[in-house]
Parts: sequence; C-alpha cells; structure tokens
Amino acid sequence: MAAEEFDLFVIGAGSGGVRAARMAAQRGARVAVADEAPLGGTCVNLGCIPKKLYSFAAHYAESFEESHGFGWSGTAPVLDWAALKSNRAREISRLNDIYAKLLADAGVQILRGRARVLGPNEVDVGGTTYRARRILVAAGGRPVVPDVPGAELAITSNDIFDLPQFPRHLVVVGGGYIACEFASIFRGLGAQVTQLYRGEQLLRGFDDDVRHFLAAEMGKKGVVLRTHADVARIDAEARRLRVTLLDGSSVVADQVLYATGRVPNTARMGLDDIGVALAANGAVIVDEHYRTSVASVYALGDVIDRLHLTPVALAEAMTLVDHLFGSAQRRMDYELIPTAVFTHPSVGTVGLSEQAARERFGAVRIFRSEFKALRHTLSGNSERTLMKLVVDAASDRVVGLHMVGDDAGETVQGFAVAMKAGATKAQFDATIGIHPTAAEEFVTMREPVVA
Ligand SMILES: Cc1cc2nc3c(=O)[nH]c(=O)nc-3n(C[C@H](O)[C@H](O)[C@H](O)COP(=O)(O)OP(=O)(O)OC[C@H]3O[C@@H](n4cnc5c(N)ncnc54)[C@H](O)[C@@H]3O)c2cc1C
Repeated sequence: MAAEEFDLFVIGAGSGGVRAARMAAQRGARVAVADEAPLGGTCVNLGCIPKKLYSFAAHYAESFEESHGFGWSGTAPVLDWAALKSNRAREISRLNDIYAKLLADAGVQILRGRARVLGPNEVDVGGTTYRARRILVAAGGRPVVPDVPGAELAITSNDIFDLPQFPRHLVVVGGGYIACEFASIFRGLGAQVTQLYRGEQLLRGFDDDVRHFLAAEMGKKGVVLRTHADVARIDAEARRLRVTLLDGSSVVADQVLYATGRVPNTARMGLDDIGVALAANGAVIVDEHYRTSVASVYALGDVIDRLHLTPVALAEAMTLVDHLFGSAQRRMDYELIPTAVFTHPSVGTVGLSEQAARERFGAVRIFRSEFKALRHTLSGNSERTLMKLVVDAASDRVVGLHMVGDDAGETVQGFAVAMKAGATKAQFDATIGIHPTAAEEFVTMREPVVA
C-alpha cells in the first residue's frame, strides 16, 4: 500500500542526509528521511565526535605528567573507563535529540527503520511503501575486516568506544588515519599499543615528511609500530588474542582493532535491482550533480566513496539541494580541502604533498621548520613540531601546507582560507605573526630547504 508522497526521500540520517533533508525542507520541499540507527550517522555516533572526545580524554594523562614542570604535584590520575563511556554516551544521545529536533523543526518526516528501494520513485521502510519524486542515497559506509582466519575475533571502530573492559594491550591493524588515531588515543589512555601496518609507512597519500615525523613522534609516546607487518591469523588463547604475522612472529593482546578499510553501505538496498550503477566496491556512481544512472535517484557522502569527511558530505548535500530546490549556482570544489588527523601529536594538512606538487608543477620551493614548542621547554615532553610549506616556484603560490603538532587542525583551518584565496609565499611573508605561537612559524619561514 502506498503511503505518503514526498519531493525528496533521503536514505540515511548521517552528515549528508540530515543536511540535505533539512535544507530541502527549508526550501519548501516535502521531505522524509529514514535511518535504521541513531540519528547523526557515523560522525556523531561512531566517528568524529566520540573519537575526538576520547582523544581529549587521552591527553589528560600526558598533561598531568607535563604539569610537574610547571610546579604542580600530586598523585597520578587513574582512568575510569566506565565513566568515560557513559559520559560520552550521554553527550551523543543529547546530539541525537538535537538532530531529531532540527529535522522536525524543519518539517522533515523522520522514519525509523531500514530503507529499501523498490523502484525509481518508491522506497520501503518497515513494510510501508513511500513514493517520492526523488530519492537521495546518503547511506554512508561501514568498516570491513579482511578474510583472515580468526577475523571474527577482531573488533572495528564501531565496537571500540564501548568495550566492556579497557584493553591493557591493544593491537591496531592498519596505517590509515583511523588506525593511527585509535593507536594514539588508546596509548594516551594507558593501553600498551602495537600498530601493525603492511605498507612501508603510515598515512599513505600524506606528505612523506609528515608520515615519517608522525611515526617517530608516536613511537616516542610508546606506540610500537611494525611496518611490513601482514597478519596471517588471529587465535584465541587463554582469554587473550594471539596475532600471528606472515613472517611467523606474533603479538598477544586483549583486543585486536582492524582499521584497514570501509565499504559503501549499498548491500541489500535494492539499488542494483532498479538499475543504479555501482562501482566494484559497491560505491554509487554519480555525475557532477550527484545523479545516479537512474534519473530520479541521487547519492552523496561516503556512499559515493570520494572523500570520507563530514564537511565534504555536508558541502555535497548543500550543492545538491541548491541544484534541486534552489538557484543551482553552487558548485562543489574538491580542491584544497583541509583535513586533520587527531593523533598525538595531531596532523593538519591542506593542499598538495611535496611529491604531488612536484608531479603537478615541476619546480617547487620547500620551507620546513622543526622545533620544540614553547610549552615543552618546561613540560619535560620531548615532542617536536613540524611545519612545512610547498610553494609552486613559477607562480609563488603556496600549494601545500602541513603541520604535525598540538592543535594542528585548529591552525591549518585558517591557512586553508588563505590558500583557497590563492595566497602566495610573498603574502605569507607579509603577514605579521602572532607571538608566541607555533602558528607564527608559517609566516616567518624565510629560507627554503629546497629552492
Ligand atoms: C572512526 C571514524 C572517525 C572519523 N573521524 C572523522 C573526522 O575526524 N572528521 C571528519 O570529517 N570525518 C571523520 N570521519 C568520517 C565521517 O564520519 C564520514 O565521512 C561521514 O559521517 C559521512 O557522512 P554520510 O552522510 O555520507 O554517512 P553517515 O554519516 O555514515 O550516515 C549514513 C547513515 O545511513 C544509515 N543507513 C545506511 N543504510 C541504510 C538503510 N538501508 N536504511 C536506513 N538507514 C541506512 C546509517 O545507519 C547511517 O546513519 C570518521 C569516520 C570514522 C569511521
């Protein structure tokens, strides 16, 4: 039986889906959004937000150690894992409620349950069929564990926030940003951490200087990184887990976190049955207006597998809504998207790595500075900061900006505006620094290390 008719039916109330639903409704469209999980999607429930909260938690132990250099004394703090989990859960549920209110206030109908596409204009949720002029698939992605023997013993990022027991020893498998973040966070919270990565160095695709520098800094904090480490199998052994590598060596841990990849959430959604073209990994294939091979069906966010970042899903959603229900003026620009990796220390980056800039521009000038941040002159922490600028020699434009250090994301966000505006190295040089900060280094580096 067909129920209501909508102008837009959104599958997935995550970053992209909520933004698209709200904005379309605010422009007068009749909108429904369906989700089978708590509102807010990966970012709110299992990604950015809980991860950053745990990253804050992890910093306290180190800050306590550092405080001695500033005259503080006292007994070492002890982590109450149960308290951290329940405080996080309370905050996330507050955010879930805010999302529900934002959607309801905009006039969006919220449907709870798994959605399945029945036709180009029909969606089933819990046995009811809804008709819509357009369907938007914003179903995100999910972590996958490769098919090694014992894979079922491993956990993913979906499980780690709510582990019943805090792991005294955690093995993290993977070298991408999620793997590195959890390695740092759990090390900071007090776990012994071994990170296994089968490649040569962490954070493939980032600037090589950043990758090597971060690996060294994480090592100083106690993360045991093993590169060229391929997992052969995982076995349960006396209430612990033994991870055996292809080289025959093994590590015993309480938990094994697999963070080696995510796949788009398109399985059993009916998309291929109605002729929506999918890539080999299940990603929905879309054109520049996020339209799929079926004219009434659109997709955006992680499910199209471009850049897995919340602000990207939000921007794609605003571009699509403007195209469908607004002035159609807005264009999505994938150039110079800044990102951070919330490791300890953190990474902030915008633009091209040195290698990518050389490939694109040929001649580049490199400015690089490595130093001990002022705080650590008294803190006793041996952490160092790296800052790097990549400049196109022909135009003098700053085409890459990279930082490893405290609050790198906060620092890099502002510089991303300058770079988006086409700032040159001469304009960086003409900018007065804020003293004493680490960020001032970006406007005071004068001598290139590579000219
Ligand atoms: C551990 C981790 C840390 C991250 N950290 C950051 C970060 O620091 N910064 C950042 O920018 N990004 C981060 N991300 C990435 C970010 O979370 C995603 O890019 C973002 O959530 C994508 O939004 P989306 O709308 O495409 O999908 P999602 O937010 O994943 O939402 C998809 C929604 O669709 C629902 N759904 C799926 N299928 C169906 C169905 N058939 N029926 C009904 N509902 C369905 C799901 O339940 C989900 O709620 C992180 C991701 C992870 C996993």
